Amino acid sequence: MKLLSLGAAALSMLCLVVAQDGTGSIPTTTTASSYSCDPTTCKLPTCLCASQSPPNGLAAKDVPQFVTITFDDSVQPSLLATANQLLDVKNPNGCGAKGSWYVSMEYTDFSLVQQWYANGNEVADHTFSHVGSPSSQEIAAAKAMLHEYAGIPQGKIKGFRAPFLNYTAGTLSEISQQGFQYDSSATAVVDDCYWPYTLDNGMANDCWTGICDGAVKLPGIWEIPMYAVNDNASVPQLMDNYLAGSVSDVTEWSNTNFDRHYNGNRQPFGIYVHPTHLTNYPGLPDPSSLRQGVISFIQSLAGKPDVWFVSNDQLLQWMQNPVPASELANQSYMKCELPNTGKEICNGLEKIAISDVGLVSSSLLNTCNFNVASWGTCFNCPSVAPTLATPLPPLSVQSTDPSYRHPVPDNCDSIWWDPVAGQCLCTTASCAYKDVSVTVNTTTAGTTNSSKTATSSGAAQSAATTHENAGAVLLPTLSIGAALMAGAAAVLM
Ligand SMILES: [Zn+2]
Repeated sequence: MKLLSLGAAALSMLCLVVAQDGTGSIPTTTTASSYSCDPTTCKLPTCLCASQSPPNGLAAKDVPQFVTITFDDSVQPSLLATANQLLDVKNPNGCGAKGSWYVSMEYTDFSLVQQWYANGNEVADHTFSHVGSPSSQEIAAAKAMLHEYAGIPQGKIKGFRAPFLNYTAGTLSEISQQGFQYDSSATAVVDDCYWPYTLDNGMANDCWTGICDGAVKLPGIWEIPMYAVNDNASVPQLMDNYLAGSVSDVTEWSNTNFDRHYNGNRQPFGIYVHPTHLTNYPGLPDPSSLRQGVISFIQSLAGKPDVWFVSNDQLLQWMQNPVPASELANQSYMKCELPNTGKEICNGLEKIAISDVGLVSSSLLNTCNFNVASWGTCFNCPSVAPTLATPLPPLSVQSTDPSYRHPVPDNCDSIWWDPVAGQCLCTTASCAYKDVSVTVNTTTAGTTNSSKTATSSGAAQSAATTHENAGAVLLPTLSIGAALMAGAAAVLM
């Protein structure tokens, strides 16, 4: 219960948060931690000590400068369009930039999640109802729905980010138990700007909260810290940093911080986005200039040698087997061939345009309509709206019905899977897939682990609340203002 002792300091930090989105209260220096790690015994590919230097002794000048652009919260048509605008740059091998999306369930259109995935991006877990210090059921329910309605193979849902970046020792243990590969909720400032590392020896970031006391050691689980940038006043900014100043100011200090990485030890550089803030909504201030500022910054990075825009999933594949930048183009995880399935199937890659935002979908989609939500899916609709307690309600069709959609099996990636015919169109080793993920029981997980989560909460969650803004959560398209206000109020609580 050591973590509960921050008290007043944490509360005063909370007060800073709401003034501005995701900013203002990250400590600029770390505190001493008991973290220790022996690199002679902790070795790749399964173990890596926290270090500011590139892995395996590679020289900084020889390693890629990775840029990770991540998106949080629900996936909706206009938000996906914004994300795709930001990612409209090429990597040195000619393949498009890829991103990671930490998806919460409410207002998410699962057909768009499948599109995002089918185009080579990463889909990760951000809980069912977007709560900090989440229960095991919050984490498991989201993973189950991403699999059931978006067809993401369970084993491809590798990452987790805590809402409000509000994670605890219990959260990290939970994602380990549920078969995730990594967490990306921690903050790295200048003096703990570590490359991603495994938690065999515990946490090495956010040590001011007490999380580095060595109580949590999770062999093989990776932490991908979120890399803060310092603004003009040397205040670390983490998420949505384009909200922290004028476009020209933000661009200037973003470049200064990027150069610190690029000309230094080339730790990954992050751009952490709530796409709601960069998307036009009727009746709200026009964010076009903000959006264009971010896009211009990204495009300027794309013009530099050895800069690669990758998902956190791709980053981790490199971390496990680091190669010089000169060899990155040929790594299988950096390639971008689309599958030739030989027939039009509902896999997220259909080229039939819908709506006015230029997104692709298909006449093959089902639409699931409920009082509170509707979404498209290549799979079966549930008979009632999913809830936290019952994320996978009974289906609306029987398995004997001609309209029944066959779920993705564990030996076929969804990009090759025809859910109408129930057929895997992958016939060669090059597309073979075997899902060996952990199965989590979503009907019972909610109650079994709640005590663990509760007891490990405290300073870590208080601190983290200062990072991920409360505004961009669960926004229905037409009530963003009210949701922003509700989010701010929630933080104050
Ligand atoms: Zn969020």
